Amino acid sequence: MGVTTALEWLGSCSGCEIAILNIGEALVPLITEALEIVHAPVLMDHKYFGQCGEGVTLTIPEAVVGIVTGGVSNHEHLEVLEEMRSKCKVLIALGTCATHGGIPALMNGRDREESWQEIFQTVSTDPGAKVPTLEVPAPLDRVYACDEKVRIDLQLPGCPPNPELIAEVLMSLIEGRPPVLPGKSVCDTCPTKREGKGEVNKIKRFLTNAAFTPGAPVDEMRCLLEQGYLCMGPVTAAGCAKRGAPSCISARVPCRGCFGPVRKDGNQLLDMMNALASNGIDYKSVVDRRSLLRFSGAHGLLRPMKKRADKED
Ligand code: SF4
Ligand code: SF4
Ligand code: SF4
Repeated sequence: MGVTTALEWLGSCSGCEIAILNIGEALVPLITEALEIVHAPVLMDHKYFGQCGEGVTLTIPEAVVGIVTGGVSNHEHLEVLEEMRSKCKVLIALGTCATHGGIPALMNGRDREESWQEIFQTVSTDPGAKVPTLEVPAPLDRVYACDEKVRIDLQLPGCPPNPELIAEVLMSLIEGRPPVLPGKSVCDTCPTKREGKGEVNKIKRFLTNAAFTPGAPVDEMRCLLEQGYLCMGPVTAAGCAKRGAPSCISARVPCRGCFGPVRKDGNQLLDMMNALASNGIDYKSVVDRRSLLRFSGAHGLLRPMKKRADKED
């Protein structure tokens, strides 16, 4: 019998689940021999309140390993997460939404009431449409990362996470050893040429192509930050590089920070300001500084901006 495993998704786009499938052939022995999946809404019809709805409380079967994807946006997510915590010996937060709020946490930078009005009462919605109050789980005051609500044993970020690292985590649990995971930054896995300070002192919008020779290897391209592009490699956790260079850099595109901060409690916005300063770039030239938290806006880092009238009080 394999290691009992339960999977759950909260505020998730299902990209993390696709990343599990992208483990590829190595997944076959994992799910046929090593793991016994006892609960996974993405794979099986398993109801929370009994198969015929006869239960009175939300119930997930006990499992040794629990994998949770997505951020905690509403009361249903919270209830599911708490049930996973109580039923799973080892709970893994998979993907940047689960570890740092991810894309859903962008909501944290906006006034919630204004957002609901915009979503449900614009010219493109039905006339007279109202913000729903029935049959839709009530939202929390903001989007939370999983570890803000329950104890998490292992965090594996990435949007989506790297399938090779998911396989490593699962194998390490099966083999009873600590997983071997990258602890450095995207820059540490990047082969581009760094020559010290760049010659630019203002961030360039990515409306112009970076300078590189088409067909030449990435290690012949000058570092994108030194070229003046907002590359978040210095403040982003490594892990996306499958072969050679980090994914975006190999496509000659700056890192957007999707693996979240290098340290679990890091602040990509603050750390990037420091990285810009040490490259001689004026942080004021970043058009939208708060967007640097586009993948890591939970943990109370991203809050709605005060309205102008409030500031004047
Ligand atoms: S981390 Fe990325 S891929 Fe995973 S659920 Fe969130 S948005 Fe989707
Ligand atoms: S800043 Fe970007 S391009 Fe430069 S070394 Fe880091 S990841 Fe590579
Ligand atoms: S380079 Fe940055 S944004 Fe691109 S996949 Fe890697 S961590 Fe994510």
